[in-house]
Amino acid sequence: MILPIKRFFRNASTAAHIFLGMARHVDYKALNRYIISMNQCSSLDNILQEASRCLKEILNYHLFAFAVQDQDQGRLDVWIDPRIYQAPLNQLIYKDFGTIENLEIHSINEQAETTVKLLTFHDKNLLSYSLMDDKCLARMYILPERHILPYHNEILEIIVKTLGGALKNYLSIKRLEDDVALDPLTGCYNRREFDRLLSHHIASSKRYDRDLSIIMFDIDHFKQVNDTYGHPAGDAALKAISKAVLNAIRKEDYLARYGGEEFVVVLPDTKTPRAMELAQRLRGVIENLDIAIACEQTIRKTASFGIATLGKNDDQESLVKAADAMLYQAKSAGRNQVIPKLYAVNVGS
Ligand code: GH3
Ligand code: MG
Ligand code: MG
Repeated sequence: MILPIKRFFRNASTAAHIFLGMARHVDYKALNRYIISMNQCSSLDNILQEASRCLKEILNYHLFAFAVQDQDQGRLDVWIDPRIYQAPLNQLIYKDFGTIENLEIHSINEQAETTVKLLTFHDKNLLSYSLMDDKCLARMYILPERHILPYHNEILEIIVKTLGGALKNYLSIKRLEDDVALDPLTGCYNRREFDRLLSHHIASSKRYDRDLSIIMFDIDHFKQVNDTYGHPAGDAALKAISKAVLNAIRKEDYLARYGGEEFVVVLPDTKTPRAMELAQRLRGVIENLDIAIACEQTIRKTASFGIATLGKNDDQESLVKAADAMLYQAKSAGRNQVIPKLYAVNVGS
């Protein structure tokens, strides 16, 4: 009786061994594929979506979140499985990052059935992994499965290292690109990047017969801010105004600092009337903005706006010149107003 039982267990253990070996081989093959693709992604979102697919396919982890904090820009982006109940995650994020203010929430694993009930869990059951520190903190949160295979911890460790490396590469490339393209004071595009973007959009608008408008605006009597409150207060005002404008434009529009206290917004696929609507909105946003220039001291400023829409015979220089001329007219007409250049072809369009 003992002998058949022993044989049974020996056979079962050999079969388990073979099964484990095969499973391991398949998992490592998939892992290699994901390591390559994570390192090839060119956006933060793609890297994290790829990592989430990897965790799901190989480790069958369905509940996870990522948090990435850029200390330079004061941003905290969180990618979250839509089924995760956010309150316990917020507690962990607060513990790890010291804040849960201004969280930018993104969705991960979007194919997940949204009809599935939100899953709640205790924060102490959620494992938290550090992906990178340095100037940027990044963490991954996972609710582990109970029945994992013995080598899965090893795979998880490789995923954490790969993801950390991919994030680090992506962020150092992005920092270099930002240094070239962004204005250091306001964080919006600089003049050079504006020239490049506008040239690109003019070419594609002409090729595909699309509309394109630009809005130029200049803050009214800005010199008074420096003269009355000092240059640092002027800097703070430029930052506050550009931030408010950035928050008010569409995702597909671009805000650039044209120079000093003059800015320009590039509006792809936009005719004059829509550009006027947006400029009026921006004018109101600036006019009603309480600008903190010292502790408990706020001021208000206005701005003047000129609009130009790309016409058949326009090139980059004539378009910018037209918007600038309209801005000049808005100043002459008393400031805090919007003046568009009306081409015969745009009237009533
Ligand atoms: P207007 O309504 O005609 O535009 O009057 P203005 O005072 O805004 O125009 P002016 O051209 O006379 O002055 C612009 C001021 O903007 C002067 C300049 O020192 C200030 N300025 C430009 N760039 C910066 C900056 O980066 N920081 C600060 N603090 N001030 C700046
Ligand atoms: Mg000015
Ligand atoms: Mg000016």
